[in-house]
This record gives sequence, C-alpha cells and structure tokens, in this order.
Amino acid sequence: MAPIFIVLIVIAVIIIPLAIACCRTIIAFISKKKNKKFMSDTFETIECKNSALHLSHAVQCQTVSNEDVSIVDWNEFDKLKTILKESFPLIHSQLVCRTIGEHNLVFIWEGVKPNVDPVLFCAHQDVVPAEPEGWEHPPFSGEINDGYVWGRGSFDMKGQLICLLEAVESLLASNFKPQRSVWIALGCDEETRGTSGAYLIAETLYNEQRRFACVIDEGGAVVEGFFPLITHPVAVVGIAEKSYVDVTLTCNGHGGHSSTPSNPTPLGRIGRAVARVEYHRMPSRLTTPVKLMLQNLALHCSFATAFILGNPWLFWPIISLILSKNPTTDALIRDTKATTMAHGSTAPNVISDQATAVVNCRLLPHSSKERLRIWLQRIIADKHVNIAFHGQNPMSVPSSIDTIYYDILKKAIASVFTDAAISPYLMTGGTDALWYEKVSDQVFRFSPALMNSSELSRMHAKNERFSLKNLERGINFYHFLIKSM
Ligand SMILES: [Zn+2]
Repeated sequence: MAPIFIVLIVIAVIIIPLAIACCRTIIAFISKKKNKKFMSDTFETIECKNSALHLSHAVQCQTVSNEDVSIVDWNEFDKLKTILKESFPLIHSQLVCRTIGEHNLVFIWEGVKPNVDPVLFCAHQDVVPAEPEGWEHPPFSGEINDGYVWGRGSFDMKGQLICLLEAVESLLASNFKPQRSVWIALGCDEETRGTSGAYLIAETLYNEQRRFACVIDEGGAVVEGFFPLITHPVAVVGIAEKSYVDVTLTCNGHGGHSSTPSNPTPLGRIGRAVARVEYHRMPSRLTTPVKLMLQNLALHCSFATAFILGNPWLFWPIISLILSKNPTTDALIRDTKATTMAHGSTAPNVISDQATAVVNCRLLPHSSKERLRIWLQRIIADKHVNIAFHGQNPMSVPSSIDTIYYDILKKAIASVFTDAAISPYLMTGGTDALWYEKVSDQVFRFSPALMNSSELSRMHAKNERFSLKNLERGINFYHFLIKSM
C-alpha cells in the first residue's frame, strides 16, 4: 500500500476522532463558563425553628410497612396524620386535603393559573423495620441530639417529607400564591413496593386524566466523594431508575434418602447454576442517563480527564473498565443480578426432588427480559434448570434534562448547595417515582441533603439520623423550588 494511503487511514481512524473529541471538550468548557452566571442567583434563607421537633414527632410514629398489609399497624399511620395536622395547620386549613386509598395523603394547593399543568412533589410515610439493639438512641425515639434527629425514617424519608411541608407552610404564612398548582402526594408503602401507596395514587391520577408538568420525589442526594476525580460534593438527580425483576431457577429431579445419592442432586444443580450466574457479568452498556452524567461530571475535572469522560462514544472501553472496579458504579453500566433466596430439602438427610433459587435482577433502561433470559440460558447451560420471571416493574423512561423544569431544579440545588457539581444520573434502586412516570414526562429523583458514605450507610440500617443542617437545607431548597415553578 502506498505510504500516502497509510497516512490517510491513520488520520481517518485516529486523528479525526481525537480532534472531534478535543473540540467537543473545549466547547463544553466554554458553555459551562456561560452557564455559571445562570446558577449564581441569591435566595432568602428560611428558618423553621420547630422543624426538628416536627421531624422528631414524625419519627416517633412507627409507620413500618409490610408486604402483608394485614399485619401493618395502621394506627401508627393515623398517628402520623394527626401529628402532621398539628405541625402544619395552614396546609390543613388552606389546601385541599384528599385521601386516596386508605392511608395516602394528597394535598392540593391551587395555583393562580388554573390552565397550566401542576407540579407534583412526593414523599413516603412508611419506613423499614428497626430492631432496638445497637442503636445509640432508640430507633423510634426521635431524639434530638448532637445536631441530629435520630431514628428510623429520619433520613428515608421523613426528613425530606418534613422539609417539603415546612416550606409550603412558611410560603402560606407569607401569603405566597403559586403560579401553577402544587400537589403533594404522601404514599404509604414505598419500602415494600406495594400497590396500595404511590402506585394507587398514580393510577388514580392517571384515571382522572391528570398530567403534571413535573414530578419530584426522593432519589440521589448531594454526595461527598461520589466520584473519585471530583473533590467537591456532587448533587445527583435521578432521571430514570433501573427496572426490578426476580428470576426463579428451579430444578426437578429424583429425591430420596441422602445415604444413596445420585449426584448432582436438584440442589447441587441449582448451586452450580447460581455459581455460574454470579461468576459472569452481563456486558456493559452506555445508557442516556449515564452518558449525561459522565458529560456533566467531566466539566468538573481537569481538561485531560474531561477529554476522556466527556467522550464516551470514543473512550467507552476505558471508561467502562474504570466504572467496573466499584460495585456502585458498575451497577450504572450493566444489568445486575444477585442471588437472594434458595430452597432445597427441609431435613438434613433428605434429598429434595425440587430445589429453587431466586435471583434478583436490576435492568438498565432499554434492556429486556428476553435478553436476560437468553444470557441466563447460555451461562447456566443446564437444560434441567428452568428459568421463570416474575415481579417485573415497568421500564423507566429517562426524563429529558433540556427543559425548564430541570433548569429550575438545578437552580434550586445550586442556591442551597453552592459548591456542588450537579449531574443527572441513573438510580440503581427503585423509588415511588417510577409509578408517576405515567402522569408526567418529567420525573426527577432528588433528596436535598448533603451526605457522605458514613451517613448513607445508616439508611435502612442502625443509627439512621438526619442533621439539623440538612433540615435547613431541605426547607430552603423546597422554598426556592416552589417559588420558581
Ligand atoms: Zn425512601
């Protein structure tokens, strides 16, 4: 081949893509500087002296949800309802209060402009159980100590719920009138992903043919140390979530006395299948929320790092290798699976004629059950192991960030968390927000609280707590947001 052709091929294959990536990075840095002005609005600081006490009282209600709704202590939900009524008298006297289902609370604050779509703020009243052992303060004491309100649900998510109501109460006290109507929906079963909480609210609103300009629910927080290359906190806004599906592996075979086994037993085959599923990883894939996250975070890194992160179309093999190193970031780029349950015989000397295992899977947007089934069949490679799917949620559709609602949300975050980088991202866990995708194209998952890994590890665990500083931040966040909507 003539040398000139070799040079042309090198230019086409290497130099042109690198030049495009370089130009894109420079343009992104220039537009970031322009946007800084937009983010630097000042805001008034709202003080709510009683908010810690209100949160403490809410934590004292043991609103523990359960998949079996017949064993839930609904009196505790009634207690919470009464406490909210006492803590927020203006909301209860000036807003329309609806109950959807038995225990979901919905408040409607009519806007000045009845013809524009309302905005919906969500929170859940329920919490996960807590055993009293190992807590510095009893889990349902709601003690205020050392700058924190302690207890189960203080962070997930009664803290956020109280911040939202405090902001509305203070706006009502100042005679503020929202332009668009503000709806508040407080579900009762987020932790068990049941059908009598947010699912029912969303279905009801959908059947009433209501549409919302945007929905804001719990989700990503302002996290210190979120990304290894960024020193300041990152406010991550969930614009979609992974889909939840359970897979049951079943093997039928010959049971009998364990003294005369015919190996492999059904449980042995299931064990081998599980080992294969856990050993292999699904292939990595770049989704829109993660692409947007990388491009946004790139702007907070050095030019060299931004050159790589901001151009995943070119550097995906390198980026995916880096993200694969940590389970948290690995879950952002591939369908995951975790074996959570297994069952064989009920006695040590009996070979069961059936063994099962449950593999909980979380699928990226635009993945499919069929794709997962094909992968499982290939990896397990055992025709005696049956694969059955159940309990799948609908696929989450990523919300666009090129809208005024995302801009307003960003502005509200920047006003309170002045040094945070703000980025869209993909939630690896599930939230109530998924159900509300039915009534809005703009569904954002964000918790206005500054957190580090130690604080986050208390969620659903011992010594959960919510700082008074985060209460103040959350109230100001919602105050700003509602005024801007
Ligand atoms: Zn929650």
